Amino acid sequence: MKKKTTGSEVPTDRYPFAIMKSAIHGVGVHTLANLPARKKIGELTGPLLPLRVARKLVRDQERIFMVEIDDRWALDCSGGSALGHVNHSCAPNCYLRIIGKRVEMYTLRRVRANSELTIDYIETPHAKGMQCVCGNEWCRGRL
Ligand SMILES: [Zn+2]
Repeated sequence: MKKKTTGSEVPTDRYPFAIMKSAIHGVGVHTLANLPARKKIGELTGPLLPLRVARKLVRDQERIFMVEIDDRWALDCSGGSALGHVNHSCAPNCYLRIIGKRVEMYTLRRVRANSELTIDYIETPHAKGMQCVCGNEWCRGRL
């Protein structure tokens, strides 16, 4: 695959992604290539934190950069691969699979180049949930 260097591009193991301004919230991950359906597109990376510590950290954050791995560990993806910036959508085009202590990201369907990648966060540790701003017609309103 040919890779263009655009400055904000962060290489991952399979496809070129860019962290760019999001139509949903803040910045998000955009794919620079057309992605096939149901394919692994990369991994979220970062240090593992004890789940107790991770939940405490996340509670006061506006954005979430934490993936709960199991009942003991969470992955802090704030400083890891580009995919750690993926935003939530109630109608996402990607999903995460946790394999051992690794967090892999897969497409749910084909995704066109220059689209934002999204996953369903499912739940957050915020007591009242967070307001969802995905703007999708099936939006649940809170997560
Ligand atoms: Zn929503």
